[in-house]
Amino acid sequence: MASGGGIQIPSRLPLLLTHEGVLLPGSTVRFSVDSPRNMHLVSQRLLKGTSLKSTIIGVIPNTRDPEHDTDDLPTLHKIGTAGIAVQVVGSNWPKPHYTLLITGLCRFSVSGLLKERPFVLAEVQQLDKLEQYTTPATEGVPAEEGELGELSHKFYQAAVQLLGMLDMSVPVVAKFRRLLDSLPREALPDVLASMIRTSNKEKLQVLDAVTLEERFKKALPMLTRQIEGLKLIKKTRKIGPDNEKRVLSVRKGGVFPGRQFNLDEEDEDEDGDDTAALERKVHGAKMSEAALRVCLKELKRLKKMPQSMPEYALTRNYLDLMVELPWSKSTKDCLDIRAARTLLDNDHYAMDKLKRRVLEYLAVRQLKTSLKGPILCFVGPPGVGKTSVGRSIARTLGREFHRIALGGVCDQSDIRGHRRTYVGSMPGRIINGLKTVAVNNPVFLLDEVDKLGKSLQGDPAAALLEVLDPEQNHSFTDHYLNVAFDLSQVLFIATANTTATIPPALLDRMEVLQVPGYTQEEKVEIAHRHLIPNQLDQHGLTPQQLHIPQDTTQHIISSYTREAGVRSLERKFGAICRAVAVKVAEGHRVPKTDASSPEDPTQQDVYINGTPYSLLPVQGMSVNSTSLDKILPFGTPCTNSDVTSSMRYPDKAVPPELPIVIDHVALKDILGPPLFEMEVSERLTLPGVAVGLAWTPLGGEILFVEASRMEGEGQLTLTGQLGDVMKESAHLAISWLRANAKTYQLTNMVGSPDPLEATDIHLHFPAGAVTKDGPSAGVTIVTCLASLFSGRLVRSDVAMTGEITLRGLVLPVGGIKDKVLAAHRAGVKRVILPKRNEKDLEELPANVRADLDFVTAANLDQVLNAAFDGGFPGTASTHPQLSSKL
Ligand code: ADP
Repeated sequence: MASGGGIQIPSRLPLLLTHEGVLLPGSTVRFSVDSPRNMHLVSQRLLKGTSLKSTIIGVIPNTRDPEHDTDDLPTLHKIGTAGIAVQVVGSNWPKPHYTLLITGLCRFSVSGLLKERPFVLAEVQQLDKLEQYTTPATEGVPAEEGELGELSHKFYQAAVQLLGMLDMSVPVVAKFRRLLDSLPREALPDVLASMIRTSNKEKLQVLDAVTLEERFKKALPMLTRQIEGLKLIKKTRKIGPDNEKRVLSVRKGGVFPGRQFNLDEEDEDEDGDDTAALERKVHGAKMSEAALRVCLKELKRLKKMPQSMPEYALTRNYLDLMVELPWSKSTKDCLDIRAARTLLDNDHYAMDKLKRRVLEYLAVRQLKTSLKGPILCFVGPPGVGKTSVGRSIARTLGREFHRIALGGVCDQSDIRGHRRTYVGSMPGRIINGLKTVAVNNPVFLLDEVDKLGKSLQGDPAAALLEVLDPEQNHSFTDHYLNVAFDLSQVLFIATANTTATIPPALLDRMEVLQVPGYTQEEKVEIAHRHLIPNQLDQHGLTPQQLHIPQDTTQHIISSYTREAGVRSLERKFGAICRAVAVKVAEGHRVPKTDASSPEDPTQQDVYINGTPYSLLPVQGMSVNSTSLDKILPFGTPCTNSDVTSSMRYPDKAVPPELPIVIDHVALKDILGPPLFEMEVSERLTLPGVAVGLAWTPLGGEILFVEASRMEGEGQLTLTGQLGDVMKESAHLAISWLRANAKTYQLTNMVGSPDPLEATDIHLHFPAGAVTKDGPSAGVTIVTCLASLFSGRLVRSDVAMTGEITLRGLVLPVGGIKDKVLAAHRAGVKRVILPKRNEKDLEELPANVRADLDFVTAANLDQVLNAAFDGGFPGTASTHPQLSSKL
C-alpha cells in the first residue's frame, strides 16, 4: 500500500542492517553498530552529510544472525523502517563502534538494491503515510468506520486501561499518558508495541503488518497480555508506589525522553534481568554437554549468592568467559592452492623452499581433511619473515590469526591457566587466544618455542605438548575452565631461532623448516618490493614524495645493518620516512586526497578514546514524532557548518621539489655516519680480540672473537650460541696455547707460566642470535687468546680462517670465496688462510685479489707471525715437524 499524500521519504535510502532490536515508526531506539557495512554507513553518510536528508536512513532487520560481516549480503527482511538518526556517538573502546539513536518515521519495502558496498543503498517504496499529527486522538471523530473503527477503539480502551493501572507520579507514566492523548489512534499500535514488553519476533510481526487493521489485530493481544501480567503482579505482590516505580523503571539504554520504557515485571530487577540474560547466553553458546552442565550449576549458585559476595564476581567472570568462548563457532576454510601460491608470492620475496613446503602442506590438508598433520616449525634468525609467513597462511586459509609469544614463559599455568581457587586466577594463553579470535579454528602462531623456560611452577613445555598432540588436544583442559575444550580444529605453527633449545619431546612433534637469512641481493629486492612501500604507507608518504634508489638501499644494507633478516633494515627505512615526513610537513601542506584519512576532522572527533563525541546533525532539533514538521521538508540544508567538508585541505598542489631523493649524503644526515665501516679497526684496539671469517647462508661474514680473563679457577666460559664443533675448537686452542706457553712466553695475570692458573677465561662470539658452528674459527681463537695472554694487539687489518689440530697444524676449510669477499667488504687488508686452500684463491675476482694480501699458513706459528705486527716471538723452536715418523 503506497502512501497517498503526506510527506515522502527519499526513494533511495542507505540501509542499516540490524540483527537485534526492531525499530517501529514513532519510537526511538538505540542501536550499537560495529559491522563494517554499518560503520561505513555512519562514517561516510551520517557524519559526512550536510543536509537533513542525509540523516534519514532505512533500518532493516536481517534474518540471518551475522556473526561476521561476510562478503555476501545477508538476507534482508522485506520490510524496514525509515528513521532519522538523531544522535551518533562514537567510541573505540573496547572496539570501534558507534551508538545510534534513531527515531522511526514510517515503513518501507525494498524494491531493489543499488549497491552493497561500502554500505547498502536501496531503492525503496514508502508504505505508511507520514504526516504531521495535528489531531489528538481524543478529539474529533475517528475517520475509520466499521471493523477498523472498532478495533482502533478497542485498542485505545486497552491502552487507557493499562495507563490506569500505573502510577501517574512516575515521570515515564506521565509521558505515556501525554503520548496517548496526543497521538492519532493509527499510530498507537506501533508506538505501544515498542513500549510494552514484546519480543523482537512480535515486533517484527507488527512491522510486517502493513495494513492498519492487521496492525491493530497483531498488537492488541500483546497489550492485553501486558495488562493481565500487571494484574497478576498486583495481586501477588501487592505493589506499593515504590515498587511500582521500579516496575516502570526505564530500561538501560532507553533513556531517550520518555520514548522507550518497559512495563514489564522482569525488568524491575536489573540483577535478575542480568542473570536471566546470562542464562539465555549459556543456552545459546552451543557449548559441550559437560561445559553446559558446569555452567548451569554455577548459574544456580550465582542466583543464590548476594551480589556483594566476592565470589559473585568470580563466578560471574567465569560464566562470562564460558559464554564468550567459541565452542562451536568456526570460520569456513577457503583454500585454493593457486590463490595461496599467488598470495604467498605476493607477500614474500625469495624463500622459495619454505613457500614450496608450505604449499605442499596446504595441499595435503586440502586433500585430507583430517587435521592430524605435522606441526610446522619455522626455524631461522630474527627478521626473516617467519611470523609474516604464518600470517599469510592464515590469510590463504581464510582463518583468524593469533600470535602467542612464548619467549620467557616459565610457568605452566601461563599455558594452562590457574585453578579458580587462586585469587586473581586466569585462563591460560590458549583459552585467552580463543576468546580473542572468537572462533575455534584459528591459526595460532607459537612464537619462540625455543625460548620456553622452566621453573618450579612446572614445565610449560609439558603443557604445550598436550596442546600440540592431536591425540590429546581434542579435550584440552584449562585449569581455569576445568572442562575440556576441543583444540583439534586449531592450526598450530611454531617459530624458533634455533632447534638446539627446543625441548626434544616438543621438537619431536614438529616438522622443522629452516628459514635461512637473505643475501644482499635478496635484501635489496625485498626492500624495494615490500619494506619501502610498507614504510611509506605507514608514514603517510607516497613514492611521489620520497624516493630511495637501489644503491642507497645497498649502502644501508652494508653500512648500517648487519643481520640475517631484514628487521633492522626495515627500521632504517622507518627512520628515513620519519625524517622525510618532518621535512614534508614543515615545508608544505601534505596533499590529502583520501577523505577517510585520520586527519579527517569529523572522524578524529568521533574517535576520541573513551570520550563519546556526539554529533547532532541538526542543532536544536527536538525529536519526537509530534514535531516532525520541524525536520521537514526533507532536503533542507543543515545549518551546522562544522560538519561541512568543503573547507578541508585547500592546498592540493604537490610541491615542486618532490620527490625527496635519498642519496648517500642524505643518508648520512638522517642515519648518521655508517655504523659498520670502521668497526674492524675500532674493535681491535684492545688485546684479546681477533677477526675471523665465517661462512653463513648469507654468504661470508666477518666474525669477531673476544676473550677476557679474570681471577678464578681455570674455567673456560663460552658464549655466543656456539655449536659443539666450535666449542671443541676453543678447547683445542687453549690446550695448544698452554702446551706452548713457555715458548711464546705467555703468562697468567700474575706472571705464572701456566696461562690458566688461577685464571678464568671467557671467550665470546658476538651476534649471539646467530648460531655459529664449524671448525674454521680455530686459528682465530688461538690468535685471540695469544693476544690476550701476551697483551699485544692483533693487527687491525687482518682476518683469518682455518681449522687447527692439537699439534698446531692448520687444516683447510670451505667457503673461501665467500669469506674473502666478506673480508674485502669489511675493509680488511690481509687474509690468513690454510696453505691447502691456496687453490681456492683462483676463483676470486681479480680486483679483490689485487686489493688483498694473502698469507697462507701450514701451522699456527705462521698464523701468529702474520697476525701480529713484527711477528710473534719464540716461534722458530716450536715449529711442528711435518715429516712425522709415525
Ligand atoms: P620473524 O618472525 O622471522 O622474526 P617477521 O615475520 O616479523 O620476522 O619479519 C620482519 C619483517 O620483514 C616483516 O615486516 C616482514 O614482512 C618482512 N619480511 C621478511 N621476509 C620477507 C620477505 N621474504 N618478503 C617480504 N617481506 C619480508
